[in-house]
Amino acid sequence: MQEGAKMEPASDSNLSVPIKGTERALQLLLFPISPEQKRIEGTKGVLPPPWREVSEKEWNDWRWQLRHRITTFEQMKEIIDLTPEEIEGIKQSKGRLALAVTPYFASQMDPINPNCPIRRQAIPRIEECHLSKNDMVDPCGEDKDSPVPGLVHRYPDRVLLLVTDQCAVYCRYCTRRRLVGSNERSITQGNFEEVLKYLKSHRKVRDVLLSGGDPLLLENERLEEILSRLRALPHIELLRIGTRAPVTLPQRITSGLVRMLKKYHPLMISIHFTHPKEITDSVKRACNELADGGIPLGSQTVLLKGINDKPYIMKKLVQELLKIRVRPYYIYQCDLATGTEHFRTSVATGIQIIEKLRGHTTGYAVPTYVVDAPGGGGKIPVEPDYVMSRGKGRVVLRNYEGKVFEYPEPNILEFKKAKSVGEEKVISKKVTA
Ligand code: SF4
Repeated sequence: MQEGAKMEPASDSNLSVPIKGTERALQLLLFPISPEQKRIEGTKGVLPPPWREVSEKEWNDWRWQLRHRITTFEQMKEIIDLTPEEIEGIKQSKGRLALAVTPYFASQMDPINPNCPIRRQAIPRIEECHLSKNDMVDPCGEDKDSPVPGLVHRYPDRVLLLVTDQCAVYCRYCTRRRLVGSNERSITQGNFEEVLKYLKSHRKVRDVLLSGGDPLLLENERLEEILSRLRALPHIELLRIGTRAPVTLPQRITSGLVRMLKKYHPLMISIHFTHPKEITDSVKRACNELADGGIPLGSQTVLLKGINDKPYIMKKLVQELLKIRVRPYYIYQCDLATGTEHFRTSVATGIQIIEKLRGHTTGYAVPTYVVDAPGGGGKIPVEPDYVMSRGKGRVVLRNYEGKVFEYPEPNILEFKKAKSVGEEKVISKKVTA
């Protein structure tokens, strides 16, 4: 970062690119608030027309939310003033990545502003049909590292287990769009038995990450069966779950779920967050409940053009995450999944974001920025360069303000035993590192 450079201010609460005019007034005119709606958790008081008569009990029931997801153009146009790009995108989404948005997540969308970050993530746009020469069906090369269906084994001591292809909301930039949403089914018992058999014969594996799809869309009983059978393998030390449910379906985080998860510690959860606007009262409650269950929470965020690619937005996100006890863990460079080029930023944008976080806010709030190597190869951390030069006996570094410092390397004393028999002498020799 250049000396004296400043963060852009997080000016509005929405942090989306605003539209001209009296947006809030218009929104209230279109969707006036009733006392009943105000009581519904996490809606910020405004429910679009289809759900005005929904009871609080129904709204807060995750199964009701799943059953009432928006999956068609007709349903979407009832709540959103769709742009031509979105209309075409929805029409063309058939046979590509499915459209599905929970009523809760849809209620967080700005019905007027097409630049709303929630809307941009969940509503298909025509740009998804544009194919780039760099697009890849399986950008992280997971299929070639899959020894049995549902399992990816790339790193020596840990595996990825895909337990379902269903998500509450389908993110338009999804890396696994080749797999998710097509059947909305969980892993078959037969495949799971194959996975267990594989793990029993691979005793170096000590860490299993459950992903998908979204593992928290499984019923508690099914999820518990998977967790308990993995936990029964003596060499599996750590269980992890990757999920977006606390953000798109916070009603899923119930005390019953947390009580069940607590039985399988050490268990960690990585939550996919994208934008500070996602951190509503419902999301705060969900994360608090998980954290109170003693589950360490981390965040994973995909860097997305026009959504979160500004340092002030990312700074707001990571600071808000710490407030709800979620440790910012990774920022991912957007993968090369088919039809997602319009979401991709340059790598320089990601480096600049880290540059403007490191030193400017709490160290715990600074995630690792990674590029998942195209075609397989794993996550490669990418950092601003703080080492200016390495010379003989010294390293020249710069700090977050651009000030330059020199660090002298240690002088190493090398001890050698004297060869003479009897008395042992110690000869010290100065060596320059
Ligand atoms: S929650 Fe994850 S797996 Fe599901 S659509 Fe979004 S990015 Fe893909």
